[in-house]
Amino acid sequence: MSVVSRFAPSPTGYLHVGGARTALYAWLVARAAGGKFLLRIEDTDRERSTQEAIDAIFAGMKWLGLDWDEEPIYQTQRFARYGELIEQLMGEDKAYKCYCSQERLETMREEQMAAGLKARYDGKCRNLTAAEHAEKADQPFVIRFRNPQEGSVVFDDHVRGRIEIANTELDDLIIARTGGTPTYNFCVVVDDWDMGITHVVRGEDHINNTPRQINILRALGAPLPEYAHVAMILGDDGKKLSKRHGAVSVTEYRDNGYLPEAVLNYLVRLGWSHGDQEVFSREEMIQYFKLSDINKAASAFNTEKLNWLNQHYMKTLPAEQVAAELLWHFDNLGVSTEDGPALVDVVKLQAERVKTLKEMAEISSYFYAPVTGFEANAAQKHLRPVAKNVLVDIQQRLKALTEWTTENIQASIQATCAALEVGMGKVGMPLRVAVTGGGNSPALDATLALIPQATVVARISLALEFINSREEQS
Ligand code: GLU
Repeated sequence: MSVVSRFAPSPTGYLHVGGARTALYAWLVARAAGGKFLLRIEDTDRERSTQEAIDAIFAGMKWLGLDWDEEPIYQTQRFARYGELIEQLMGEDKAYKCYCSQERLETMREEQMAAGLKARYDGKCRNLTAAEHAEKADQPFVIRFRNPQEGSVVFDDHVRGRIEIANTELDDLIIARTGGTPTYNFCVVVDDWDMGITHVVRGEDHINNTPRQINILRALGAPLPEYAHVAMILGDDGKKLSKRHGAVSVTEYRDNGYLPEAVLNYLVRLGWSHGDQEVFSREEMIQYFKLSDINKAASAFNTEKLNWLNQHYMKTLPAEQVAAELLWHFDNLGVSTEDGPALVDVVKLQAERVKTLKEMAEISSYFYAPVTGFEANAAQKHLRPVAKNVLVDIQQRLKALTEWTTENIQASIQATCAALEVGMGKVGMPLRVAVTGGGNSPALDATLALIPQATVVARISLALEFINSREEQS
């Protein structure tokens, strides 16, 4: 059997962490089996569905590298098909018109609840005669699915194990509202069938729908897919993950400086394990993923672990790959990287020093943009009158270099130390603040080597001017 799985988001908001994890698992099922992964946009709730949300979902999926096969299916484009199958079920007497008023249903529900019973439709219209139907011909109606009354629905969920629900627990579900619009569960069933879905991977909040959907699939004569209902994600505090826990939209993780590889690796481990391995490349995920290894219990979000993975990938992925993502952050900051060192060199220099690419871009702007001011603390400490001699000396040496290399820069710094009989810090720190604007940067020789010689010299002049102007003020 060739595997076909799907991700079926409702486009009422961005792609959140829970949705992305569901998508990832569904994607892995397909990719592991060499099957197909399809996308379906469940946009029948027209008031809450927006194009913006659809775009955000696509963007999130693309950023994570969760590629899908074929054009996405939109439920709003499939009403004719749903209508056709509702007609078919009606023709086969597997569905029927129900004329019960809202008030009647409300009252019935209240009475059932008061008596401690489960609210369910009592089947009043289930067995109306042709004459009774004719009598009500001008009344509004909904269409209900004629759920079997005997036996039970049994399915083996890949995560939750065997699940059995007696049909007496299920009432006759409305499949078309007054006016004919099909209801959610019906659309899902028709789509899963038409799309040839063999594996349904979704959140466990849908588990109650499954027995109903199975009965409808059977009534249509459709094959049954396999199911995997994935437990929910909790925040660090044990409560259901929500906006309160910080970023929950996938694209916000991008904004905050995470690599897609880190987020993906983080998500795959959030509820799935393979021995005690923590780091998985995309290929390894595909190789090892099994639905049966998904945890039954809810998983808790852990930002520290995500940070750890992010740093791991910043250091170990090919620098070109990290650089591509870093470029996005520079663009976001409005810093052009056209003039200046290759981004890969910045990545290599800074990866150890930051947790996110956002930070990396923020602390690396001196490679591409002029230093417009000095950090107050660093300037206070290092751009003092005593530093003038040092800066003048090192400036001359750097200016005189005919080859702008890490080694030559290092040798010049040492020469200044020797000539002025001062320690490395006394030269290094003022020079660092002069060239980078602050007191934190990677190794000075390697940092300077990435900035053009003339720029370094000019920045030292600016630092000297700064010291002079401070002297005059005091
Ligand atoms: N549209 C549903 C959701 O976003 C998913 C339904 C399904 O996977 O069957 O929760």
